[in-house]
Amino acid sequence: MEKPLIIGETKVLPGSSVSIALPVAKLYTHSELSMPVKVIYSKEPGPRLFVSAAIHGDEINGVEIIRRLLKILKPQKIRGALITVPVVNTHGFLSKRRYLPDRRDLNRSFPGSEKGSMAARIAYLFMQEVVSKCTHGIDLHTAAIHRINLPHIRVCLKDKKARAMAMAFNAPVILNSDLRDGSLRQEVLEKKIPMLLYEGGEALRFNEIAIRAGVNGILSVMQHLGMIVKNIKVKKSTPYVAQSSQWVRAPESGIFRSRKKLGSRVKKGDSLGVISDPFGKNEIKVISPLEGIVVGKTQIPLVDEGEALYNMATFKKIKSVEEEVIGFQNELSLNPIYLNNLD
Ligand SMILES: [Zn+2]
Repeated sequence: MEKPLIIGETKVLPGSSVSIALPVAKLYTHSELSMPVKVIYSKEPGPRLFVSAAIHGDEINGVEIIRRLLKILKPQKIRGALITVPVVNTHGFLSKRRYLPDRRDLNRSFPGSEKGSMAARIAYLFMQEVVSKCTHGIDLHTAAIHRINLPHIRVCLKDKKARAMAMAFNAPVILNSDLRDGSLRQEVLEKKIPMLLYEGGEALRFNEIAIRAGVNGILSVMQHLGMIVKNIKVKKSTPYVAQSSQWVRAPESGIFRSRKKLGSRVKKGDSLGVISDPFGKNEIKVISPLEGIVVGKTQIPLVDEGEALYNMATFKKIKSVEEEVIGFQNELSLNPIYLNNLD
């Protein structure tokens, strides 16, 4: 039998499912505020996986992914522990903003410190009470405001365990992504805990395909880690690994008409869209400088010179990636496991 898990001041016994509120800085009205945590803890030993969302307060797809996951999973259905934190940045979530009230990016504030800035204190709390209790992790994100991302995994491919988790996640695309200073992923990796970052959809919106792909992916990873007692039918795919990605930027300021959808295959020299003045008189074509698949794009047609328009991932076998992306979106919309957990 496993030992109790201590999170904050709560003792979680094996075989139970417990909600915990970890206190964070109060609002200046003196209202109490907390980071919500839900733990599902099996009597059977196994890995301890954290799944976190809304480190960027306006990225809400992950909140819904965790809600659906908790409907499917119970202590007797898993091995080990699932520690979910649907809203890490409570302050940002309340104000529907990416950042904390001190305008810091929580995902650049790790590992944090007990007596530092507000961002540093929240990062520290998350590291102490969640990450340090876990053996694996998945952090859920969406694109930043006014942009949208194709469901994909960002991972440092040099980390073999994280790479295996990324392959198991079954997103159509895996992007090799070097670590960023102060990010959760960097800190977790330094603690030798394999972790994935999942990206899909846009800020302040629910994107059904990205949500389903996220639920499917987490269940697939848990199965890969031996955490699911009775296998669940998950959608399998062959993820394509991109070594790099690059932003195509606006050559001039103006009003942008996009011609490429998320997941489109683009060849070097293809026209991606047109930027014009409000009268449509001066029209400038946006030409792709490279071949790739669109994994991210802007959603706002008002652009300044240099603005990021399309994020393109580059692959060796580009044609098959395009087919996989289309097949993936069709199949996910039909799988009953996701339809049963919508309410
Ligand atoms: Zn994010």
